[in-house]
Amino acid sequence: MPEKNGLVNPFVLSDDDGYMWLKGNLHSHSTNSDGRVSPQERVDGYVNQGYDYLCVSDHNNITFVETLTCPENFTLIQGAELHPDNPFGGDRHHFVALNISADMDARAMPPQHVIDEVKKQGGSIWLAHPHWSGINILRDTIPLTGLAGIEVFNTTCRCAGRGESSVHWDDWMDLSGQLLPALGNDDSHAAESEARDTYQGWTMVRVKERSPEAIVEALESGAGYSSTGPQIFDIQLHSGEGRTVEVTVKCSPAQRIAAVLDLRGTEYHEGGELFETATFKLRPGSKHVRFEIIAPNGDKAWSNPFDLTAL
Ligand SMILES: [Zn+2]
Ligand SMILES: [Zn+2]
Repeated sequence: MPEKNGLVNPFVLSDDDGYMWLKGNLHSHSTNSDGRVSPQERVDGYVNQGYDYLCVSDHNNITFVETLTCPENFTLIQGAELHPDNPFGGDRHHFVALNISADMDARAMPPQHVIDEVKKQGGSIWLAHPHWSGINILRDTIPLTGLAGIEVFNTTCRCAGRGESSVHWDDWMDLSGQLLPALGNDDSHAAESEARDTYQGWTMVRVKERSPEAIVEALESGAGYSSTGPQIFDIQLHSGEGRTVEVTVKCSPAQRIAAVLDLRGTEYHEGGELFETATFKLRPGSKHVRFEIIAPNGDKAWSNPFDLTAL
């Protein structure tokens, strides 16, 4: 887990300082593992859909980016989905490793060794779809150190009714006492024509440059948000009267926004009317908050958590 409590609020990073939003998917499969399309077709699909970055994260082995072509302003992140054994009792682990350079025999390695090896290679490693995997955070994840964060949404796991892992996210932050960033991913296996698990879950990241290093560093710092549709334009937090925190959220038209606190939470709505700005006065003494924006059609966006103790 990151050696820090505060994450970066992407909405205070200004266009004037050269920051831009990039849209990407960090979890996808090709015929190099159990995906239905070639690695190049997978890349072409995301390019054509207007994405800015992609990781073809095949099971167990790296799909090397030098075997792929893409436009200059599109970023390929080299990685793999790694499956170490789970010695703690749960099912075999699913970790998405980004910016790794060499294959490893992860299936034969304990999970901590896999995490350590990824970090030794300068990479970043994330807990994938814990809800689908039946991962119990206390049993299977808390014994590990060095994971960057959690995949809060996974499109292909939604096909099995277990696409969202937000409660696992809350559990993990509660049990570890640390704030963790999240990713929204497709985990695409199908061909685009099946419209099954492509282009439905993504992560927006706030960066100054399009390099794989800058993107992954920003994701680890929390400078982004996950979405299946809604856009978040701004989140600003101010300390209010009596140790309360006042928050303003600006987003694409929403039917409700949840403010999920470290303990309990609250919700904003306008009685069924759509709105684009919400204001919250949060309970005094809360330690952190994250926001879930719900669009009229049920699509959702998840902000990263904000540290309230630093305000
Ligand atoms: Zn998986
Ligand atoms: Zn996968």
